[in-house]
Amino acid sequence: MTPLGHETIRRLPKVLLHDHLVGGLRAGTVLDLAAPAGGAGLPAADPDRLRAWFGAPAPTPEERARRLDPVVALLQDTASLTRAAAECAQDLAADGVVYAEVKLAPEQHTEGGLTREQVVDAVLEGLRVGRAKARLFGLRTDVRLLLTAMRQAADSLEIADLAVRYRHRGVVGFDIAGPEAGYPPTRHISACEHVKRANFHLTLHAGEGFGLSSIWEAIQWCGADRLGQGVRIFDDIAAAEDGSAKLGELAAYIRDKRIPVELCPTSNVNTGVLPSLAAHPVDTLRRLRFRVTVNTDNRLLDSATLSEELARLCAEFGYTAETLRWFTVNAMKSAFIGHDERLALIEQVIKPGYADERARWASAAFFRQEDPW
Ligand SMILES: [Zn+2]
Repeated sequence: MTPLGHETIRRLPKVLLHDHLVGGLRAGTVLDLAAPAGGAGLPAADPDRLRAWFGAPAPTPEERARRLDPVVALLQDTASLTRAAAECAQDLAADGVVYAEVKLAPEQHTEGGLTREQVVDAVLEGLRVGRAKARLFGLRTDVRLLLTAMRQAADSLEIADLAVRYRHRGVVGFDIAGPEAGYPPTRHISACEHVKRANFHLTLHAGEGFGLSSIWEAIQWCGADRLGQGVRIFDDIAAAEDGSAKLGELAAYIRDKRIPVELCPTSNVNTGVLPSLAAHPVDTLRRLRFRVTVNTDNRLLDSATLSEELARLCAEFGYTAETLRWFTVNAMKSAFIGHDERLALIEQVIKPGYADERARWASAAFFRQEDPW
């Protein structure tokens, strides 16, 4: 069976829950922003070579993330933040992403004198501009913001409070990111409790570079609604050759409670968490009916749009559009907007989008009825 092509996947409605604003800049924009400072020490002066530098393998997730330091340094004023956010919304719309939650760490953008509120305002304005520009081309997308606190910093409670205060202005939740080893989620338990007590939403990076204890703390101590990454949950699953699997208590809890897992397969391979896409547990977790979602993480570092990410999975695991619809509906169900809004997008945008594509192809190979919803 021929794998679904990139163009078909691009036309299908998609949902993205784990994507960092800073990690998704266009290479050309990075160069533009660096131009007034004579290139700002970037290692290449043309977009293709710069993209290749960002995309080269790195030994650890932390080292890879540090590659974005020069990008962060360029995003210290409202104009560049607004431009980055506008282009993010336009790029996601062009890729057929109908709903996205993009992560922003406000504290990383205050070196030039902006307050955290000004940082968030500039990015929200950019998302608004980007959505409006996309609409001019007949593309619709809805991009919301997650405010991220860095694990190694001490201001997570302030960031959590900022997220809560912006809940009616486009911010839909709180996130914690940064190095896992040495910085367990419980260091930030006050921030997480603040979010929960405000009846607000929480996703924590856990189970990427570090193992099950990080996931356990994120879920059972911090009350995370979703797991950012979470791929290491596979360490709590004993999978046999015949396809059967025995789940440990933590893995069973996550599956039984339908806790969404924000998997970022290409990112996991590029950071060395997994040796190859073929070795990635995304397919086993899908077959075991975890609430799997597929995400891009850092589009600039991983040279991937969501369509490309999904195309790689289709090529590796033989997925049909039915499987992609399952991932998409999973992600939409797991979004931090209201249930009525999620349902409207599923019923009025996602399902009709897949039905349109099905009609276009009318091919038995396109949909396999035995695939799960
Ligand atoms: Zn991430």
